[in-house]
Amino acid sequence: MGAHDNLYNCYVPPQELFVRGEGAYLYTDKDEKFLDFIAGISVNCLGHNHPVPINALKEQADKVWHLSGMYRLKGAEELSKKYCDALPFAEKVFFTNSGAEALECAMKTARKFHYDNGQPERYDILTFSGAFHGRTFATINAGGNPKYLKGFGPALPGFISLPFADHEALEAAVSDTTAAILVEPVQGEGGLRPLPTQCLQGLRKLCDEKGILLIYDEVQCGAGRTGKLFAHQWAENAEPDIMAVAKGVGGGFPMGACLATEAVAAGMVPGTHGSTYGGNPLAMAVGSAVFDEISKPEFLEQVVRVSNFLVQQFESLKDEFPDVVGELRGKGLLCGMQLKKTALDVRKIAYGKGLLGGSAGDNTLRLAPALIITEDHVREAVGILRETFKEAQALPDYVEA
Ligand SMILES: *Cc1c(COP(=O)(O)O)cnc(C)c1O
Repeated sequence: MGAHDNLYNCYVPPQELFVRGEGAYLYTDKDEKFLDFIAGISVNCLGHNHPVPINALKEQADKVWHLSGMYRLKGAEELSKKYCDALPFAEKVFFTNSGAEALECAMKTARKFHYDNGQPERYDILTFSGAFHGRTFATINAGGNPKYLKGFGPALPGFISLPFADHEALEAAVSDTTAAILVEPVQGEGGLRPLPTQCLQGLRKLCDEKGILLIYDEVQCGAGRTGKLFAHQWAENAEPDIMAVAKGVGGGFPMGACLATEAVAAGMVPGTHGSTYGGNPLAMAVGSAVFDEISKPEFLEQVVRVSNFLVQQFESLKDEFPDVVGELRGKGLLCGMQLKKTALDVRKIAYGKGLLGGSAGDNTLRLAPALIITEDHVREAVGILRETFKEAQALPDYVEA
């Protein structure tokens, strides 16, 4: 029996035990040092042990922890105002504890909007292959990944998965029963695929023409990760009606939010939705401190600068190791590369050399470091990747299962 045995076997972690973090580094109980280029999968945006959210949490911990939405939540009032001031479309916010819950709220909001408009038949949510929206019943159905649906009973009605970036399939699928189009501006899990700005603009236009709502899932690509506060802000005239956020917005404290226009959220009245912990004072204190940091123009400028440097470095790795590295993927610091050797094996070699990374669909090495990394951290990661790829050259070529 191992220490891990009483936990569900849903994860297969390595033996090492991380007990402490500092900036872009994690340390084991034996004080081994790892360069963290995955950050809890796009979560610890300010790195580990950042004084600003720590102090915000400690200060709030001495005041009040939990109240519930039955009472005024000062932190939620303040943070919702910050989000709505920063995002032109956003006028109403519902706070959650996770990304999947933010998506559940987003999809309920979309269906309720059409229901209240006298079109209850409009309940279909259109999504795209490679999408990932969480692991609850509604969100695995929205994601449409057969691997995540298998074994969990009949697929829920009201979700239609379309081929990624297939305009004709999309136009053909839109009908009088369509409630919303749900899309990640940069697909995370699906292989770090950014949707081109003209696609986002095209989606916005299509939704306007057909009376459909546009929902963005910015759980992974939001919170400054691409160098804009939210990834869709790279595109003009492509604002959503509803947006789900989580992961980075809490910087490592569990929280998420669903943001919407006032008109779209109008139907979400008392009794329609709720959450015990949503908007709780501890989460709001951290979320507010994180927001203040990541929304500074100089913070986002540094994300752009360091990610440009990182892409240059990845280009040279691709040139050096043409039999290991395929297409470069992602946007900003949600980045990586498609590999010609099995991504999981390559990741293991890198891990052995002290670099934490992840993988994504399409045999992609996924990297999502803290947004506070410097050019030196990039040089260090690239040095480890170079040694990793040298070894990986000896691996058999990846074959799609
Ligand atoms: C992680 C993720 C989710 C789910 O978030 P949880 O907090 O794990 O529920 C949803 N959408 C995207 C794009 C994600 O990356």
